[in-house]
Amino acid sequence: MSHVTRPHAAMFASPGMGHVIPVIELGKRLAGSHGFHVTIFVLEADAASAQSQFLNSPCSDKTLVDVVGLPSPDISGLVDSSTNIGIKLLTMMRETIPTLRSKIAEMQHKPTALIVDLFGMDALRLGGEFNMLTYIFVASNARLLAMIIYFPTLEKDVEEDHIIKKKPLAVPGCEPVRFEDTLETFLDPTAELYREFIPFGLVFPTVDGIIVNTWDDIEPKTLKSLQNPKLLGRIARVPVYPVGPLSRPVDPSKTNHPVLDWLNKQPDESVLYISFGSGGSLTAKQLTELAWGLELSQQRFVWVVRPPVDGSACSEYFSVNSGEIRDGTPDYLPKEFVNRTQERGLVVSSWAPQAEILAHQAVGGFLTHCGWNSILESVVSGVPMIAWPLFADQMMNATLLNEEIGIAVRSKKLPSEEVVSRAEIDALVRRIMVEEEGCEMREKVKKLRDTAEKSLSCDGGSAHESLSRVANECDRVLERSRRMARGA
Ligand code: UDP
Repeated sequence: MSHVTRPHAAMFASPGMGHVIPVIELGKRLAGSHGFHVTIFVLEADAASAQSQFLNSPCSDKTLVDVVGLPSPDISGLVDSSTNIGIKLLTMMRETIPTLRSKIAEMQHKPTALIVDLFGMDALRLGGEFNMLTYIFVASNARLLAMIIYFPTLEKDVEEDHIIKKKPLAVPGCEPVRFEDTLETFLDPTAELYREFIPFGLVFPTVDGIIVNTWDDIEPKTLKSLQNPKLLGRIARVPVYPVGPLSRPVDPSKTNHPVLDWLNKQPDESVLYISFGSGGSLTAKQLTELAWGLELSQQRFVWVVRPPVDGSACSEYFSVNSGEIRDGTPDYLPKEFVNRTQERGLVVSSWAPQAEILAHQAVGGFLTHCGWNSILESVVSGVPMIAWPLFADQMMNATLLNEEIGIAVRSKKLPSEEVVSRAEIDALVRRIMVEEEGCEMREKVKKLRDTAEKSLSCDGGSAHESLSRVANECDRVLERSRRMARGA
């Protein structure tokens, strides 16, 4: 099919693996199963970074999508090292809009649709300029979408009702959530991120559609509310397309990785995998307790460790590189920890091939910071979790897993300034790896995995149907502009 007869989707991805991975997956689906020509704009990163390595791997299939790197803007005059990560992302995306505009202006085959993720919403104004349909892509879940669009309606009461009186956030048609377990951004009305972020809720009803990385069986209530004109649909006002789970496929070139070699020698479902996402880190005290807790539990593990950071739990977001297996004990872990646990544990520094590890039959549990991509990778691999939320939307994700779906255990202390003790960590690990509770959760998550497969099926699956509706909309617009061009 020639370019002009196919709809063209231009996608604008925020930096960070948690955004780039689902945007690439969405682009691959639109191109591979729905006839789109797809251009994905990403902010360039350091060649050694996990993002660059991912974009150069077979996972980001360049035969299906065009990936165009845009120079990362210099924002040093606008933010400093203490600036909140959300503000940094918003600033980077905002400063890149002029470059994005000139790239689109240069394109011979103008995009039919512009799809932006949450931090790139300022770029939506290019939709009008270039006559493109506009879509917001929520790389996270429907619960996050529901809270963001509902929040501006209660802004006045936030301080009094929720922060002082601790009233849970009850979004119409959705499960109420303890306010401290909602989005980190909502908790401090005096913060810059709050002022920047809250008005975003009002932008959703102005676009042509909202694409969200979830599916009915994992979030039935919230999705129904978003689609019901008497509940949240009244606020959203535009179609909501659930297209999940978009998660990174296993990379066949990684099967020789040393972690996978080690996993090959372990019994089925016996290993706990521990990772805090692309940039999460723990305090020195918490890291020590986690090491002792793992040792006490006597369970097998693969642990992706990073040096401790006191103060910011997301310090490595922009800088994380691919990791290596640690021989000796790094000086921030208890003395001789690696030697004492080498029979049953593996310590990897900074980064590991997560999707491949979770898909390995030896893995039976995942201690996760609850980033949505990590959760989806765990679900599609049928692995129950220990929820260890650190920041952003991770607390609400932990609540969903633990209280609503029942596929994760969670320490009641998290997240907080308090340290989770080694005894409690030992108990959490045993609950998921050894006890009946863990077995039941494993069964449940495997059932959910089956629904995920169904959703993605090209034979009537709901994710596939959603994208077909987006494609129809784009085809209609393309046909209209062709008719107008012919008539002119
Ligand atoms: N990831 C990985 N290896 C690591 C840590 C993370 O491959 O050692 C990948 C992980 O598989 C997931 C993404 O990075 O796809 C992290 O996204 P998520 O939404 O879970 O969390 P974020 O990093 O955005 O907090």
